[in-house]
Amino acid sequence: MEFLQPGSWAEALAIQAEMPAAVPLAGGTDLMVELNFGARRPPALLDLTRIGELRQWDIQGGEVRLGAGVTFTQVITELGDKLRGLALAARTVGSPQIRHRGTVGGNLGTASPAGDAHPPLLALGAAVEIASIRGTRSVPVDQFFAGAKRNALEPGELIEAIRIPLPSGPEQFSKIGTRNAMVIAVAAFSLALHPDRQEVGTSIGSAGPTPRRARQTEKLLAAALADGGLWESRGGLPEAIAAEFGGLVAAAAEPIDDVRGTAAYRRHGLSVMARRTLAWAWQDYQNDSG
Ligand SMILES: Cc1cc2nc3c(=O)[nH]c(=O)nc-3n(C[C@H](O)[C@H](O)[C@H](O)COP(=O)(O)OP(=O)(O)OC[C@H]3O[C@@H](n4cnc5c(N)ncnc54)[C@H](O)[C@@H]3O)c2cc1C
Repeated sequence: MEFLQPGSWAEALAIQAEMPAAVPLAGGTDLMVELNFGARRPPALLDLTRIGELRQWDIQGGEVRLGAGVTFTQVITELGDKLRGLALAARTVGSPQIRHRGTVGGNLGTASPAGDAHPPLLALGAAVEIASIRGTRSVPVDQFFAGAKRNALEPGELIEAIRIPLPSGPEQFSKIGTRNAMVIAVAAFSLALHPDRQEVGTSIGSAGPTPRRARQTEKLLAAALADGGLWESRGGLPEAIAAEFGGLVAAAAEPIDDVRGTAAYRRHGLSVMARRTLAWAWQDYQNDSG
């Protein structure tokens, strides 16, 4: 197996164009497991770790532009106050070692339905910046997932960055696993309230072939909050709204029975997580006088 170590992004794109079968390597926390278990034997690995710009992030025009090689640890330590939902999710990933190596770009590359970075990115309406020698294209993150462990990358393309609109309100993330740490989600849920435009963002993880937004439910919750004048008043959240929200989120999922849990358990867990994250987010909204 060839091991290719480009020193620049342009070089990486040139190699990927010439050798589309070369598999990109970021933190290696998914890829090395596959190689070690013999599940994959690519002709070449394209090591991206020497490309410094992939590990950088900045803020441009109301968006965080997160380089694909930004690790979960960086998200927690450098972006915890800006991307609260993604940081909450990052804190639940694996162990300190995995968070130190594992990247947001690698999470997208694997495109597992259980990837923890996905729900907060979906709830905020992020977009994936994809590059090749032909140029750059931007794909909304909810169109990036093409099926279980399949994504929208074409041969010769690499993920360069993720553009994440800066949240205007509270965000929450919740995950159910079989224990507290080092666990792949049995089900997960992300919520973002967007008071600036009176909208709601959601995403369900690990309960369908791809992570997905519950778009109809987002609209119903936003309308219920608007009808009650709650966006302006920040008054108490009626229990009926939270309960209905929980039920609608559970109904929007497409879970299966597998080794980690049953479909019924996942649906029930999602209804509880949706209700709870809404209560937490609303409390944050009430406490933040704006
Ligand atoms: C013990 C353990 C615990 C884990 N716990 C969790 C968990 O709790 N939650 C969770 O979500 N994940 C978990 N994972 C999975 C893994 O850590 C994450 O998916 C991580 O985000 C992968 O990132 P990476 O940088 O290590 O990717 P890599 O392993 O380097 O790559 C992953 C995939 O993405 C592709 N890729 C990487 N970078 C790019 C790029 N720039 N462009 C195109 N393709 C690219 C690779 O070719 C590969 O197919 C765990 C893994 C282990 C081993």
